[in-house]
Amino acid sequence: MTDTLTIAVSKGRIFKDTRPLLARAGIELRDDPDTSRKLILDTNQDNVKIVLIRATDVPTYVQYGAADLGVTGKDVLMEHGGAGLYEPLDLNIARCKLMVAGKPDAAAGNRRLRIATKYVEATRRYYAAQGKQVEIIKLYGSMELAPLVGLADLIVDLVDTGNTLKANGLVPLTHIADISSRLIVNKASMKMKHAQVQRFIEQMRAAVQEQRG
Ligand code: AMP
Repeated sequence: MTDTLTIAVSKGRIFKDTRPLLARAGIELRDDPDTSRKLILDTNQDNVKIVLIRATDVPTYVQYGAADLGVTGKDVLMEHGGAGLYEPLDLNIARCKLMVAGKPDAAAGNRRLRIATKYVEATRRYYAAQGKQVEIIKLYGSMELAPLVGLADLIVDLVDTGNTLKANGLVPLTHIADISSRLIVNKASMKMKHAQVQRFIEQMRAAVQEQRG
């Protein structure tokens, strides 16, 4: 008997980049995610389902076993903390950097800096490791605006081409971490559905290697 494998993927960039890897692993969607409103998508394999959810919810679904596996950014994992999860594979997609950024003349002087970010945990750990006291302001989007309107001295955000920073007169200042999407696995699923989960991980590993060329 084969169990059903449920794979949680976030909509948008990560899903777009994950689809070719799934295809190389022999998994094609039966439903068209662009036109379908279904949240649980069928694939050409009866025992493999894809659930499409918000990026920040992916580790939570996998942690609680509502999905056996998931694809999520390292940035999201750093915030989640990784409880209940294995992270067996770097998928080498949606690559970017987590960086401190600000106005070119930012961060001068010794006063306590204000940092605006969506990535509160990663930011707290980064400055704690430096022994620097900072005030962290949680935002949910458009971090680039914060230094322009005096809400914060600096931001911590994902940077890809740097065009978003540049368009707002900001510059990347310090590199915190390299980010890419990771395959994550529920710890209980890894035990209970071991053969199936392991086969899927190996198929995805081969797909990543083929795609790297
Ligand atoms: P860029 O202008 O190319 O530096 O892209 C920066 C913007 O894209 C920021 O708003 C980031 O939050 C977002 N971004 C860049 N890379 C990623 C990624 N791999 N995953 C999600 N968002 C990203």
